[in-house]
Amino acid sequence: MTTGSPHTPGPDESVTDLDVVVVGAGFGGIYMLHHLQQLGFSARVLEMGDGVGGTWYWNRYPGARCDVPSLEYSYGFSKELQLEWEWTEIMPAQEEIEQYLNHVVDRFDLRGDIQLGTRVTAATYDEGRARWLVETDSGERFSASFCVMATGCLSAPTVPEVPGRDSFQGRILQTSMWPREGVDLSGLRVGLIGTGSTGVQATPEIARDAAHLYVFQRTATYSFPAYRGMIDPELQATFKANPDDFRRQQRETFAGVAGFGGALGPAAPPTRRILDTPVEERMAVLDQEGFWAARTWADVLVDLEANEAGSELFREMVRRTVHDPEVAEALSPRGYPIGCKRLVFGVDYFEAFNRDNVTLVDLHKGAIESITPTGIQTGQGHYDLDVIVFATGFDAMTGALNRIDICGRGGRLLREEWSGGGRALFGLQSHGFPNMFLITGPGSPSVLANMVVGIEHHVEWIGDCLIYLRDHGCHTIEPTLEAQDAWVAHVNEVSEGTMYTAPTCNSWYVGANIPGKPRVFMPYAGGLPAYIERADASASAGYEGFTIG
Ligand code: FAD
Ligand code: NAP
Repeated sequence: MTTGSPHTPGPDESVTDLDVVVVGAGFGGIYMLHHLQQLGFSARVLEMGDGVGGTWYWNRYPGARCDVPSLEYSYGFSKELQLEWEWTEIMPAQEEIEQYLNHVVDRFDLRGDIQLGTRVTAATYDEGRARWLVETDSGERFSASFCVMATGCLSAPTVPEVPGRDSFQGRILQTSMWPREGVDLSGLRVGLIGTGSTGVQATPEIARDAAHLYVFQRTATYSFPAYRGMIDPELQATFKANPDDFRRQQRETFAGVAGFGGALGPAAPPTRRILDTPVEERMAVLDQEGFWAARTWADVLVDLEANEAGSELFREMVRRTVHDPEVAEALSPRGYPIGCKRLVFGVDYFEAFNRDNVTLVDLHKGAIESITPTGIQTGQGHYDLDVIVFATGFDAMTGALNRIDICGRGGRLLREEWSGGGRALFGLQSHGFPNMFLITGPGSPSVLANMVVGIEHHVEWIGDCLIYLRDHGCHTIEPTLEAQDAWVAHVNEVSEGTMYTAPTCNSWYVGANIPGKPRVFMPYAGGLPAYIERADASASAGYEGFTIG
């Protein structure tokens, strides 16, 4: 184990003293700050972006949009906020969510305690003083009793190393760092690398603007139809009549989506099983209802054989949509189950490949070799481009934390403690890092559920914990190694037999998208209710599994 270098600031060094430093100003950091203020703690949020919103500040690529309904993907902590904010679209676009989060910041007068343009580079625990020293890229220092890492699960972008990148004479863009002022792609030849959720959303939008779009695909995607449309005012009124009841229902559902009694989807999960349905009838269902994975078939996401039958039906759907049979075949996913990667939802994705100005570059026929001054060189030829767009994803769940030099008790470095995968009790705290809390850390449902519901639960759990410490005259809290190990074992156990851990599944959930990252399934797959019950039971039992001092 490498030892970090704990640093106690000298008397001449200026340090801002706080009760709590919060890192990140997305859904997590914004609510954390408000909650801490309500509880009487002094706190400051440090955010590297120049605006608030986190995911919804950074990801402003064409087509960026949420795939959880806005009424579900929003805060439940304030009744007034819920009553006064009017959502327009069922699935909100980036802009509307960013506006909403800015409204929350202003409505609760939080802006003064959010420091933008400030990247946290290091956080060091001073065991003697039981304080965290947090350092930033501008050399500022903050000393705090507690540190809350609201740094996000999908906030550390990753771009593959492609030789020659610096030689490109056109423009290189990254979807998760899309310029705030927008980009005019009209008349340009654009190369888009990546066909995950981001690439699927961006493809039809870029195709509409660009002279020509080349989509560089390494793995074909199961992309399901996304809802679009404006919210029915009556539905919004029904929600506003009783938001508390609705928010309670969210926490009682597996994925944190209450569902509006079927108004935005099927009222009840399907009972129809694909394996019990003759092939002709499957086709009839495809004709009548389209293909919605678990919303159409009960067994597709739970049984590998059913999943393969579902995949075949999916490929039939692609063949029916895409006119050129060769392109349809290349766009048809094979070799991994539906649902092993995060489900992708899109509109007009497959249809985009029927356009004259869209070309699929199937990288199985020749991989990307280099970026040249004029485009991309692949094993199947050179593509002349004006713009290259990377939609290549994130170092998920642990990436943002591992990019900070986090040095805990006894000089432990978090990234080294986590070299075999992220470990944290309930995804909230990691052994060896007292008084540091993680919002949606590894081992919590996080990315497997409506994230706002998970975030709100974490913020409130942390708030309750700080009150408990204050009321009991205590100063430190840290998980025991035994409790943490037992939780990590439970997280692994729960994921066994799911599509997420199928042997053929290479997803960011298991770190497979990052060369050298340990292959460990990171989120908790047992659902929100089971998770909340356990985390809350520990708190009710005086923080069982944690050492308090
Ligand atoms: P983030 O919003 O990621 O905010 C973290 C913040 O921390 C960022 O602003 C970042 O700049 C900052 N930060 C990180 N490191 C540092 C540092 N060292 N110093 C200073 N600041 C730092 N979830 C859903 O549930 N449903 C969806 O439909 C959905 N759609 C998504 C679409 C996209 C394009 C992406 C990328 C993610 C989506 N997610 C979705 C997940 C989304 O990230 C969460 O729902 C939620 O926004 C996370 O909020 P957060 O506050 O935890 O993290
Ligand atoms: P992603 O799902 O990780 O997809 C990255 C894509 O880039 C994949 O197609 C990947 O191919 C490709 N890629 C990576 N390296 C490559 C290389 N060297 N050459 C060619 N292709 C390469 O990332 P994402 O699309 O940004 O989505 C990440 C997550 O953000 C989602 O899973 C979701 O949770 C969230 N998100 C949600 C929405 C939404 O609709 N709500 C929208 C966007 C993002 P391989 O598959 O072969 O690795």
